[in-house]
Amino acid sequence: MPQSSHRPITHPFSDVPEDGALIEVADGIFWARLPLPFQLNHVNIYFIEDGDGFAVLDTGINTAKCKQSWAKLLAGPLQGKRLTRMIVTHHHPDHIGLAGWLAKDQGLPLLTTATAYLQANALLQDHSDQVLDVHAGFFKSHGLGPEAMQMVEMLNLDYKRSVLPLPLTYLRLMQGDTLKIGQRRFQVLTADGHAPEQAMLYLPDENLLFAADQVLARISPNIGVFPDSPDADPLGHYLRALRQIMAGLPDDTFVLPGHELPFYGLPRRCSELVAHHDDRCLEVLQACADTGKTTLELTHILFPRALDVHQMGFAFTETLAHANRLLRRGTLRAAMQAGVQRFETV
Ligand SMILES: [Zn+2]
Repeated sequence: MPQSSHRPITHPFSDVPEDGALIEVADGIFWARLPLPFQLNHVNIYFIEDGDGFAVLDTGINTAKCKQSWAKLLAGPLQGKRLTRMIVTHHHPDHIGLAGWLAKDQGLPLLTTATAYLQANALLQDHSDQVLDVHAGFFKSHGLGPEAMQMVEMLNLDYKRSVLPLPLTYLRLMQGDTLKIGQRRFQVLTADGHAPEQAMLYLPDENLLFAADQVLARISPNIGVFPDSPDADPLGHYLRALRQIMAGLPDDTFVLPGHELPFYGLPRRCSELVAHHDDRCLEVLQACADTGKTTLELTHILFPRALDVHQMGFAFTETLAHANRLLRRGTLRAAMQAGVQRFETV
């Protein structure tokens, strides 16, 4: 379908919920925002009418501020309301961080995908020095110097700081499942790329999609290669998932995303994201045309602004995701020189 036939991106709600407040975005579905200590300074969570209470979708990150916002919600608009269960879309700290706390404090059962649950638990393990050495070796082999260890520590410690231990049991959500919440029957969809087996909930009767971080209205979700799977192709998985979403969901789907504003224009946004990554791939190919480049060098070309260590983590892993995609396509090749991988355009 040509892009011009897709409806443009529009936002039916231009106001965002204040700290501790809810906005009703559909009958019995409420939107709240929790603060994050990053440049992306908030995460969206949703409350879905579930019998005499509400199921909550996503939990926020483990910080004092985020817990304070939860306390305001519980003492404010949610006062006297029962929370029934929590659905977590993926293993990233801003979504799963407080699941352990809500399980303990509110007695909520956890529903999430197997990969989200297992990946979070794997990252919460105490890693041996051997594992940390392998991770540092990954960053060094892509051009990082002494900062490699800083990156490893950031990735390891940040996760443990930001995510509380998970409940010991959970209910697995899987692609193709039907999840009944209140009177609504949601289809569970899963998609890869941003996070493995990220869950989305689709409501065909109302054309409504909880998209998690798979498709955001303005920013491009991080697609990264991480040290535990250095040859992975998350960008390939992401682009495949975008095409499936475009082919499978209607143009007038109302999207409730993990960050930023709810929106219409899902197929349009998916094709914008495909084009964005195509442009990025082209930039990598151009940069590697004359002389081989390391991932670190490519990162500075793709992200020329100054980056703090947290942003550097995103930028570096995202850059490598593009290089790995191009290796698969056969338009880039990799050669080891003095222990450092350099990419050259074929
Ligand atoms: Zn997120």
